[in-house]
Amino acid sequence: MIAGILIMASGDGESEDGRFPQIGDHWHASYSITICEGKEPPFPVSDGGVHTHGSGAIHLHPKNSSEAGKNANLARFIAGTGSRLTDRSIEFPSGVKLTNGDPCPDGQTGKMFLRVNNITMPAIASYVPRDGDIIELGYEKY
Ligand SMILES: [Zn+2]
Ligand SMILES: [Zn+2]
Repeated sequence: MIAGILIMASGDGESEDGRFPQIGDHWHASYSITICEGKEPPFPVSDGGVHTHGSGAIHLHPKNSSEAGKNANLARFIAGTGSRLTDRSIEFPSGVKLTNGDPCPDGQTGKMFLRVNNITMPAIASYVPRDGDIIELGYEKY
């Protein structure tokens, strides 16, 4: 019983969408980032247990608990690239930052979005990619 509580508290284990990546797993999800209809180039090679090799895939192979389970989320992946992601904003290493309500270059207001396997997800930064996911992330006009 105590072990069960500890597992829940650490944020690992199962969720409604299937289990989260654990230490020892090695999963891959493809991703693309679109800003105001313009596709961003894939991030270069990044560090950490949730990283990319530069080819538009997220590699999830957590090496410690800080990057496993619920911690293996998009915010962690993006942080490893030197960028920053919240549910309301994205900031690139170049300094370019977009926050919900900011205009796109044509003046139309936009907001952050996340679609996983074509389904719009309400939580963006905390989404944990699963093996085989197709992740579309970015900022779009509404
Ligand atoms: Zn890999
Ligand atoms: Zn790798």
